[in-house]
Amino acid sequence: MSGRRYVVLMGPPGAGKGTQASRVAEEGGMCKISTGDLLREALAAGTELGRKAEKTMKAGELVSDDVILGLVDEVLDRSECSGGAVFDGFPRTVDQARGLEGLLAQRGETLDQVLIIEVPETEIVTRLSGRRVCKTCGKLYHISFGPSRQEGVCDACGGELVQRPDDAPETITRRLAVYAEETAPVREHYAATVGVTAIDGDQPIDAVTEAIRRELQPADAEG
Ligand code: AMP
Repeated sequence: MSGRRYVVLMGPPGAGKGTQASRVAEEGGMCKISTGDLLREALAAGTELGRKAEKTMKAGELVSDDVILGLVDEVLDRSECSGGAVFDGFPRTVDQARGLEGLLAQRGETLDQVLIIEVPETEIVTRLSGRRVCKTCGKLYHISFGPSRQEGVCDACGGELVQRPDDAPETITRRLAVYAEETAPVREHYAATVGVTAIDGDQPIDAVTEAIRRELQPADAEG
């Protein structure tokens, strides 16, 4: 037994996956693998992959499965992932889910758990449309629920706060539709295999973290 843990954290855009994945990963000695963050990093670095993904992301559509699986394959071997990983925003298609199983199998590992954060659609639109992000350090704010001290300026680094291009209202609608169409089958896939644990995401951030902690199995649960 490796003592490594691999956990998928699912949920619609705006469910708070990123925040929760960071917390859970840190507490459990795992790394967080967010394919959205990896793509945004590639875009910021101006790599060919980033340039190719940009249009797709702006439209709220899904980047191809082979690109995504290639990114994950690379990151899994990083030293910070030696205790396992929490996947955020991945897998989003059944082929990605199967691909992940393959990547883990190559390393003699298996997926341990799938958690899904559930939030009503009206709440998601409110959350995403008010979301702002620091252009410099990436810190997240919300114009109503977690504003910066000075409007448009990051409390942490003084950077400019902007709206992510894919948080524009028309893109939010598309992202939710894509989630329903393409990602719902992933839930079914997992329900039929490792099992899925639902987490109520329509509560304060700390309460969601607590709910996730309660459901997480310890790394060596099997003894
Ligand atoms: P996120 O930050 O997870 O909401 O991702 C932002 C955007 O990146 C998505 O709307 C997609 O265009 C792209 N993306 C992120 N992760 C994936 C994935 N696993 N599969 C396909 N596209 C993805």
